[in-house]
Amino acid sequence: WRRTGSLPRALLGVARARARHRAAHRRYDVIVVGGGHAGTEAAAAAARVGAETLLVTQRTDTIGALSCNPSLGGVGKGHLVREVDALDGLCGRAGDRAGIHFSVLNRSKGPAVWGPRAQLDRQRYRHFIQSELQATPRLEVLEGSVEELLVEEEEVDPGRPGRHRVTGIRLEAGSVVLTTGTFLSGSLFLGQTTSPGGRMGDPPSSAGLSRTLRETLGLKVGRLRTGTPPRILKDSVDLTLATLHPPDRKPAPFSFLNTHTHCKQLPCYLVHTTPGVDRVVMESLHDNTHIQQDTKGPRYCPSIESRVLRFPGRKHQVWLEPEGMTSDLLYPQGLSMTMPPDMQLRLLRQIPALHRVEISIPGYGVQYDYVCPTQLTPSLQVKTTQGLFLAGQINGTTGYEEAAAQGLWAGVSAARSALAAPPLALSRTESYIGVLIDDLVTRGVTEPYRMFTSRAEFRTLLRPDNADLRLTLKGFEEVGCVSAQRYREAVRVKEGLQEAFAALGSLSRSTNDWRKSLETSSISPAKAGTLTAVELLQYNDITYDTLAAAFPQSLAPFLEFSQRLKIEAVYRPHCELQKREIERIQREEGMSLSPDLDYLSLPISLSQEVREILDRVRPATLGAATRLPGMTPAAIVHLLNYVHQTN
Ligand code: FAD
Repeated sequence: WRRTGSLPRALLGVARARARHRAAHRRYDVIVVGGGHAGTEAAAAAARVGAETLLVTQRTDTIGALSCNPSLGGVGKGHLVREVDALDGLCGRAGDRAGIHFSVLNRSKGPAVWGPRAQLDRQRYRHFIQSELQATPRLEVLEGSVEELLVEEEEVDPGRPGRHRVTGIRLEAGSVVLTTGTFLSGSLFLGQTTSPGGRMGDPPSSAGLSRTLRETLGLKVGRLRTGTPPRILKDSVDLTLATLHPPDRKPAPFSFLNTHTHCKQLPCYLVHTTPGVDRVVMESLHDNTHIQQDTKGPRYCPSIESRVLRFPGRKHQVWLEPEGMTSDLLYPQGLSMTMPPDMQLRLLRQIPALHRVEISIPGYGVQYDYVCPTQLTPSLQVKTTQGLFLAGQINGTTGYEEAAAQGLWAGVSAARSALAAPPLALSRTESYIGVLIDDLVTRGVTEPYRMFTSRAEFRTLLRPDNADLRLTLKGFEEVGCVSAQRYREAVRVKEGLQEAFAALGSLSRSTNDWRKSLETSSISPAKAGTLTAVELLQYNDITYDTLAAAFPQSLAPFLEFSQRLKIEAVYRPHCELQKREIERIQREEGMSLSPDLDYLSLPISLSQEVREILDRVRPATLGAATRLPGMTPAAIVHLLNYVHQTN
């Protein structure tokens, strides 16, 4: 090996660690740097795939820490948690163990876009993740700060740029996964004070690591920012002036391995900002360095300063969320702020329920380096550096779920690379993880990226309820990251659903007979002909339980799947159509698009925005067109039909 630079400081920090004798003299298959949401999933996934894995992180006691909000899931994010769980990841089970307020968001819409979400007990979440890692075979954990990557140049064709192969972080590994979160050259902001840090109480990642990425590897690195609200003492809040928001009565677990959750639940509370809040924001602007900077922050989790500046005079929602089952703190979601602490207190006290509030920890902001993710392959490997994988906030995303999803896939990819197995990809048509990675590596980011259901073209197929059928079987049979126990359960469910659909399909009656046997008026008497029980289940107010009560012999054995059967029946016709469209688009991905096409006046139904994108980029193939930002599946189908007709 040809190593660059002198012995990195990581060696010194690590040399004091218990694992010195083992870690320092061993070559690992995979080394993961960082024990946040990306790093823990990456390390566990790499070990599950069969790689001898080392997780190096600054502090082992903060492994699995929730840096900001004590919650998991939500619209789009809940889909990612279910998918990570379907691939045997940690966060879904951790969420079930630590959840203290479960609620499914977006219930008024269809189940495809429901958002499973839970408030979490911070300590329980961290403990669960730490004990899972401890119990994972082939995984060691080491406390230490990695300060530099050692790479060797690999000769490639003369005239082409050299590629770098990662050989280790003082320790040698076949692959390295970097998941430095908000720590890479991190700076903390509070009022006019700026200090180095990755998170309150934690030092940043060294400038050396950022320098390796920029200078040695020549990667394009940018800067993003985010912030967190002050934590407030629950006892100092007048909750009688807030609106109570109870949890769901029947909590829906995240994990496919859990049928229910055991925990007692706590409520959240809703309050609103007042004109006084706007006033304090405006008065404190000159003392607020973070808000004066141009660095991009999270659009969908903006600070109160950004909200007031963007929408002056508007009343904003603030959720008061519990920080844990026994915690005496509340988390005021919606009040992320970076003004000086005395102004933070003044601002909070402008809200009636908080008129006597006391702050335990002030809010603050953080700015950090991220690596422009278009420099990565779909397996999250740096294109020009074999063996180096990046996941999480370092790729320009925001949120635990986005980090966990990338971490899992980077861990899988790093392990496969180290074990000389061919790379695999998850496509946009089979998972939100595929959508996330494809968006990152093909479109890049201009601001912190978060997941939404609207980013997935095939969202009626990619539902939270069916993530196991989409991913667990593949995860075991092809990827190797799923345990045999979870696989057996997914096969049982798959077969159970198939048998149930066969039983439903074999029940066929005239509409009149159905009306009589179910004693229901929901089927219109005007509707003639026969219907199968599958078609009947597509009616809004016909439930599987109603059908099973009428036909217990054939349907009662499948009652455990009743909600899944209802959802599947409702979406089936649309999913069949989407599947055919997906197959058609996939078959035709290589179809050439003539460079002379006049997109601005094509006689097909395309929005002006789509026409302009196509006109500007002029994609060479249909596949390239599908990946353009702003392109819709419907537009692709119209384009495909047009080219076919005119060829
Ligand atoms: P992290 O969870 O940050 O984990 C990084 C890990 O890497 C840490 O354990 C760190 O110790 C370790 N590490 C870093 N460098 C090294 C090194 N050189 N050697 C060894 N270990 C290292 N998300 C939102 O969705 N909305 C928000 O509003 C929001 N606000 C935030 C506010 C603040 C102040 C902070 C700090 C974070 C905020 N987040 C927010 C981000 C959220 O914490 C991240 O999205 C999520 O934690 C990213 O996970 P990750 O694994 O990429 O990184």
